[in-house]
Amino acid sequence: MKRKQLYHLAWDEIEENRDAERQYQDNLKRRGKSRLLGTTLLVAASILLFFGLGMKPAVALTVEGERIACAKDLESYSSTLEELKAEAEEDLDTELLAEEPTLSLAIVPGFAIDDAGEIQDEILACSPVAYERRYAFWLGERLLGTIVQDEVEEARTKVEEYRDVVAKEYGWASEVTVTGNLREEIRLSVEDEFITPDELYTALEETDGVTQSYKLKVGEDYQDVMEYFSLDEATLISYNPEKPLSDYKRGDEIVVSAPDRVFDVTYSFRTTYTETIPFDVTYKNTRTLLVGEEGVRTEGTSGLSEVMAILTVQNGKVIEKEVLSETVIREPVAAVHLKGVRKDTGKMFYHPVDNARISSEFGYRTLFGGRDYHTGVDFVVPEGTYVYAAADGVVKSSGIIGNGAYGKVVVIDHQNGFVTYYAHNSKLLVNVGDRVVKGEAIALSGNTGRSTGPHCHFEVRKNGVQVNPFLYMARP
Ligand SMILES: [Zn+2]
Repeated sequence: MKRKQLYHLAWDEIEENRDAERQYQDNLKRRGKSRLLGTTLLVAASILLFFGLGMKPAVALTVEGERIACAKDLESYSSTLEELKAEAEEDLDTELLAEEPTLSLAIVPGFAIDDAGEIQDEILACSPVAYERRYAFWLGERLLGTIVQDEVEEARTKVEEYRDVVAKEYGWASEVTVTGNLREEIRLSVEDEFITPDELYTALEETDGVTQSYKLKVGEDYQDVMEYFSLDEATLISYNPEKPLSDYKRGDEIVVSAPDRVFDVTYSFRTTYTETIPFDVTYKNTRTLLVGEEGVRTEGTSGLSEVMAILTVQNGKVIEKEVLSETVIREPVAAVHLKGVRKDTGKMFYHPVDNARISSEFGYRTLFGGRDYHTGVDFVVPEGTYVYAAADGVVKSSGIIGNGAYGKVVVIDHQNGFVTYYAHNSKLLVNVGDRVVKGEAIALSGNTGRSTGPHCHFEVRKNGVQVNPFLYMARP
């Protein structure tokens, strides 16, 4: 602690270093003493320690934490600092260094030694210390190795040699560029082990082009691989450009990841691949489902097209596709999804037709000049309108029945004592014995049989007796 305080005091006095000053002030505050008193005491202590014990502080030049030169003594500090700085700027290409050389006061190791002569030797020995540049070769965050200054040119040549080797690998492609990526850093103080330029070359080879691959099993082909690894065909081709994907057989290794290259590699090549064409989804309203319910009538099928393109790949990723031609092999088929529109009225029967006006209620009415008992409800609808089953049941009749007054009629037995009639249709969509569900289309409305205009006659029979349908059906 005492040595540290001494150091800061000396610095403050000599260099007016602000940081040291602040630390010094902090020290004083902590100790709760006045600056003047502290200064006086510390100056005294410094003199005692340095000169009383025959020790002298040294001025050190530090680069990247390594002391590379020292001034002999405190008295000659200012001229020595200037000399050291000038020397450092001349000798070191400071622009290349991660850190600028710094000058600071230091208690040089060896000061603890009692013998005055030894101390002197120690100081002189480090003034100035021989230093050497060392070249660290980095790949991203990975240190490939550190080369001594004398061998750095050879190492660079090796890197260039390897760059050429990589470029040659892409001889089959066009517009190949192999650039950058490897970073060179000059370090004065490193604890790395040094490697030779040849070892650097080996490190490059070993690090370069690492990929993940998958071995095809029985019955598998590249399309399975595309699915397993979620890769499109163009990307898989870019990973495996040597031969067509369809040539990869059982036991073959197929590359499934972008190669991790030492250099940034960009290249282009022409190829043909298939691409999926997505299918559309259309929605259809259905009465067989309640509002909010959904279903699928037809599952969609993706289409397929054959694309001829020039792919540009950078570091294993397709960055550009210049499409030369595109041929549709298979058209996509749209999916049909069903959307329920039937409202649950809570009543037994659903309306047999939509949006219809009632032209004749159940009961007595005047028709063809006479009084007539109407056995059902008439809904006015244009010919060809869908007629729906009012509830689940089995088709009992579908055709002309009795005297033909009902025209083309569908009769549904709901198997709970209720039977419903849908009369005067133009076309029947169900056959006797068919099981139908509530809301299912069973006919197209019409004007057949004893009818004065296109309409749907809906009739409900409970245990064989004609009843008012509105007892069991909501009013529209
Ligand atoms: Zn009627």
